[in-house]
Amino acid sequence: TMAHSKALLVLENFIGGKFVPCSSYIDSYNPSTGEVYCRVPDSGKEEVELAVKAAKAAFPVWSSKSPLERSQILNKLADLIEHDLEEFAQAESKDQGKTLTFARTIDIPRAVYNFRFFASSVLHHTTECSEMTAVGCVHYTLRTPVGVAGLISPWNLPLYLLTWKIAPAIACGNTVVAKPSEMTSVTAWMMCKLLEKAGKSRVPPGVVNVVFGTGSKAGEALVSHPDVPLISFTGSTLTAQRITERSAPHCKRLSLELGGKNPAIIFDDADLSQCIPTTVRSSFANQGEICLCTSRIFVQRGIYNEFVKRFVAEAKKWKVGNPSDPTVSVGALISKEHLEKVRNYVKKAQAEGARVLCGEGVDSLVLSADNQKGYFMLPTVIAEVKDESKCMQEEIFGPVTCVVAFDTEDEVIERANCVKYGLAATVWSSNVGRVHRVARRLQSGLVWTNCWLIRDLNLPFGGMKASGIGREGAKDSYEFFTEVKTITIKH
Ligand code: NAD
Repeated sequence: TMAHSKALLVLENFIGGKFVPCSSYIDSYNPSTGEVYCRVPDSGKEEVELAVKAAKAAFPVWSSKSPLERSQILNKLADLIEHDLEEFAQAESKDQGKTLTFARTIDIPRAVYNFRFFASSVLHHTTECSEMTAVGCVHYTLRTPVGVAGLISPWNLPLYLLTWKIAPAIACGNTVVAKPSEMTSVTAWMMCKLLEKAGKSRVPPGVVNVVFGTGSKAGEALVSHPDVPLISFTGSTLTAQRITERSAPHCKRLSLELGGKNPAIIFDDADLSQCIPTTVRSSFANQGEICLCTSRIFVQRGIYNEFVKRFVAEAKKWKVGNPSDPTVSVGALISKEHLEKVRNYVKKAQAEGARVLCGEGVDSLVLSADNQKGYFMLPTVIAEVKDESKCMQEEIFGPVTCVVAFDTEDEVIERANCVKYGLAATVWSSNVGRVHRVARRLQSGLVWTNCWLIRDLNLPFGGMKASGIGREGAKDSYEFFTEVKTITIKH
């Protein structure tokens, strides 16, 4: 096609420490221009087979290295990514559509930190021991790496979420086969280039293998491979159900980080000067394409009108457009199809009688000539939406948020919990007792009060209900990526 006449970036799989071309490729788009700019290997069974072989072959040596040796290698890799931070940030922004500022300040620094964090945390693991003096026994536990880990990541925070899996997996002594999203593969490929670069402290060949391609081909081949005993997956609930089915015949260990329909609960004693800008951010950051984004805002009736007025005014300040423009806060959505899906939710809400206060269909979006074919959308606020409507029940994963009023604490807890998801919630109030009561009763893996997105990686991350199974974090990832054994010694 014409698009291919331009010089395209062509990615290759990284298997056993070598870049290997693939027999077929998928087009990858620049979301801010709508142009094909990159070709991603369309891997399948064969490529996955080679990658699993390479990972298996590397396992005995890697798993017997000391935690300190592995830690040094992870730190070296973190240094190399950090050294190229700007290049990575530009690539992530171009590939994903997110603003360069976001990639520069959130995605890539976090990818670096993921390696540093687990490089440190792996040095501090201890196991349990218990004594039974009456029968002269001592029991203790040992944790050993499991083997080849299959890692599957989504397109919204590409390198950030991929490294959140790779770092603990290899720190614990596993080897990995990773499959990033076919829509955002570039930064993973760039990371592979660094894997071999560090000389003596490089990640040894076969420890990290990356196979690019679609979920239905490459992803399923990985999930159903008999020599991959554990799968860490971040993505949609629908895909997780499929992965669970495909891996069931092998009884695999699964960690599933899935979608959300996250509430913000705003009581009448909240500090609105903090709450409003943070809730605008929690609704629209990264184009609303974060699993932790707020999409249902419950506001206590007494402050509802004031909140809505100020919230909409703040949302309108968020400029949409060229992701490289430093004054822009909202970049492009990931794809044409996804943009269409998000827009349709707004249409559905309108058809049900809800009122769009700003954004899609109400305000006009002005884009520069280069971005006319990009997948842009204005931050959109919808009011008067029924709790049962699709916009209040389904994950939209775009710059759309709903605002509704509530009266009492009991009522809002029940309404916040009445969705299938349970990932993250925010609670805004200056009453400490209330904050504790509400946080305890919310069905949500994470509850932020008077803030959003502040994470201590030491503590568990993950969702309840359809938002996932398992937790990741210092201790949780260690437990997931190792096998435990209890040993009893009689003396
Ligand atoms: P997705 O489920 O479509 O894809 C995620 C990954 O799974 C991709 O790499 C994809 O190629 C692969 N995949 C798809 N079908 C597969 C199959 N049958 N077998 C194996 N692999 C398969 O999700 P997405 O659209 O890329 O990402 C958005 C979703 O991810 C949202 O639902 C969002 O909430 C969720 N998410 C969750 C978290 C979290 O930590 N809980 C974080 C980020 C994103």
